[in-house]
Amino acid sequence: MSTALSVAIIGAGPSGFYTAEHLLKQDLPIEIDLIDRLPTPYGLVRGGVAPDHQKIKSVTRVYDKIAAHPAVRFLGHVRIGTDLTRAELLTHYHAVVYAFGAQSDRALGIPGEDLPGSQAATEFVGWYNGHPDYREQRFDLGAPGVAVIGMGNVAVDVVRILARTPDELAATDIAGEALEALRSSAVRDIYMIGRRGPAQGAFTNPELKELGEMPDADIDVRPEELEGESGGDKAVEKNLETLRRFATKPRRGRRRTIYLRFLRSPLALEGVGRVERIVLGKNRLVQDGEGSLQARPTGESETLPVGLVFRSVGYLGTGIPGVPLDARRGIIPNVEGRVLNAPGQVAPGEFTVGWIKRGPSGVIGTNKPDAVESADLLLEDHAAGRLNPAPYPGRVAVDTTLAARGVRVVSWADWLRLDALERTRGKAAGRPRLKFTRIDSMLAALDGIS
Ligand code: NAP
Repeated sequence: MSTALSVAIIGAGPSGFYTAEHLLKQDLPIEIDLIDRLPTPYGLVRGGVAPDHQKIKSVTRVYDKIAAHPAVRFLGHVRIGTDLTRAELLTHYHAVVYAFGAQSDRALGIPGEDLPGSQAATEFVGWYNGHPDYREQRFDLGAPGVAVIGMGNVAVDVVRILARTPDELAATDIAGEALEALRSSAVRDIYMIGRRGPAQGAFTNPELKELGEMPDADIDVRPEELEGESGGDKAVEKNLETLRRFATKPRRGRRRTIYLRFLRSPLALEGVGRVERIVLGKNRLVQDGEGSLQARPTGESETLPVGLVFRSVGYLGTGIPGVPLDARRGIIPNVEGRVLNAPGQVAPGEFTVGWIKRGPSGVIGTNKPDAVESADLLLEDHAAGRLNPAPYPGRVAVDTTLAARGVRVVSWADWLRLDALERTRGKAAGRPRLKFTRIDSMLAALDGIS
């Protein structure tokens, strides 16, 4: 039996990798198993970051180095809750770090939200990124109008992908199915709807700017909607400047138009059998008791003709069986990363990191300090002998359990083969990679079954 500190990290996305990285920096005998339900690593870097942002995806090189460390194993295609339970993890590992992110989305709670044509932005993002969970999704791109609700960076991504030309998309690693569907898109008018004002936009400036630099899309911003104070906030001032510039930009008769509309809340989605229009209520801003500006209806409304509505009002963590969850907040209850079994009761040896720890906020890099915080607590508990006793630690026991259940574990070497195959398939089509979007195709490619 190994005497090393054994750690399971559940979720091979940015926060999981950064946790492993920090643990590896210590002078400590350690074994880390990085477990993911998918055969592929990188979490939202593969399944969330927009395909036209390939540069951002190059952060995976850092993760590859972490995975190549001799103390780290990747166990892909292993689902916690069924292939291994929480109780089994605690039998085999001194510490378990939940890093599985937020897998669902928040609803709007308005009439008509269940009509066909009303979708979550997260479904569209998963689909165009070739995430196996979303490959069966279909989006009707046959009507000219589309509304995207929300003013965050996910909404910006969705708007941009809808506005790109097929040639621009073909230069990316967008999923083959999505590329084909978007090729025949009839979308012309893309409305991005914010319930508050321009100063409250949740987008970051480089992402906002990109919307005004689309080769075949005009941008439409109404000057009268741009009243708003930066309050001395430099980032907000930059956004307001960019928006003011957009408002004076002449239309160039491009194929598509991106309309940014502020101070509007969706009231209802309407249509016979599917979404045909969205009713928006106009808002004004009022200060709440804590000094922040909230949207309040003015009583006026307007209707836009749209065939598709994407709600992009935040991801939501849904948890995994047996692991504590605060369902309202969509996070694992925790104190700075130490998991709580019940209010005030720390679960020994269980930690959390990333979006399932703090909620769906921040960019990739935000996960680094977050991972350091959780990993430092793990190390502190290790030093103090407070981790989980793990009566049967070690990899042999885990491997035996998985083998007994017939789980086809995908190793890092397997992933490197899949990666090479995807790149080769892409090359043939003049693209950076052509992703496998089905788990069974990935396994068949690995095991030589076609
Ligand atoms: P987000 O940044 O939290 O934005 C959510 C948006 O939805 C906000 O504009 C919010 O408005 C709005 N909203 C919430 N509830 C609403 C409702 N009921 N009705 C209307 N609007 C509502 O979330 P996100 O866009 O999903 O992004 C998640 C995180 O990933 C963010 O930190 C983001 O920066 C990051 N991300 C980064 C990139 C990048 O760096 N390129 C790309 C994608 C995502 P209020 O402000 O009024 O609440």
